[in-house]
Amino acid sequence: MSIKYEGKVAIVTGAGNGLGKSHAIALAARGCKVVVNDLGGAVDGSGGSVSAAEEVASHINASGGEAIADGANVTKPDEVGAMVAAAMEKWGHVDILVNNAGILRDKTFYKMTLEDFKAVIDVHLIGSATCTHAVWPVMRDQNYGRVIFTSSPSGLHGIFGQANYGAAKAGLIGLMNALHLEGAKYSIKVNVLSPSARTRMTEDLGIPEPILEQLTPDAITAAMLYLVSDDAPSRAIVSCAGGGYALAHMVETDGVYLSPDNQTPEEIAKQWGAISSKENVHYYDNSSGPIANFMAKAQGQK
Ligand code: NAD
Repeated sequence: MSIKYEGKVAIVTGAGNGLGKSHAIALAARGCKVVVNDLGGAVDGSGGSVSAAEEVASHINASGGEAIADGANVTKPDEVGAMVAAAMEKWGHVDILVNNAGILRDKTFYKMTLEDFKAVIDVHLIGSATCTHAVWPVMRDQNYGRVIFTSSPSGLHGIFGQANYGAAKAGLIGLMNALHLEGAKYSIKVNVLSPSARTRMTEDLGIPEPILEQLTPDAITAAMLYLVSDDAPSRAIVSCAGGGYALAHMVETDGVYLSPDNQTPEEIAKQWGAISSKENVHYYDNSSGPIANFMAKAQGQK
């Protein structure tokens, strides 16, 4: 079975370099028309030029695909609106949005300025929301959409020196959870990638060369392609690196129920072993799961 995207239109943000470039080229190679968006800045978000996006779009067009370059800053609603309008004018629909643009401003929280905190939240979280907000009515109207948010092991598990980045990347999980629910009746599927790959972002992190060699962008792109296909799941967080693929999840322990007299910090301290036991964990489909679990316990049903 070969997965194709003929007749589909995708916007890939931050597609002038690294993972986004790999995503855009792979989508185009499988028949998708692609808006190659990139601001063309440095890893910390400074500077900018549309030439990074233009190079990738030219490569796609020269290889027999169809692409247009776009220099919108994903944090600017006007520029993002113009990007979506350009895609609509040229092709009449937008089926796939891959939110991939990103920057880094690593520092310990003690040394981090709030400006660096906000700048990173702005590109990853607000930028992803801005682009998704711009295509959402289009996807609802056409009753079809595939949206990817690019999270990170930093958002799922934490990395020292990345309070801003980790907060933004974890925020994308919340955004996915809500949009998965809101998009379901319009056949809009929303998924998250949590990648590790060799790009300019990871080149200087001291990862040993033999491991870096294995961490190809192509390995991440394969997961992205599946998550934007017609038969994609929705609300999946796919962790991927160097050819390994796994599903990440928020889980809750089974926990305990304490009667009103026992709802005290002392009793919680006493019960902490049972509350935090990972022996029996729950994977909830939505936010009513925990209350249902606790009420069943309170009524002695569990
Ligand atoms: P990269 O620096 O090679 O690519 C990011 C691209 O985003 C750049 O081309 C940059 O110009 C563009 N960009 C930045 N701000 C923008 C803005 N405001 N508007 C439009 N474009 C903008 O890095 P990468 O490693 O390919 O990262 C791609 C995504 O994957 C990022 O969201 C990153 O956080 C995420 N990620 C990467 C890794 C990894 O191991 N490389 C790990 C976890 C998450």
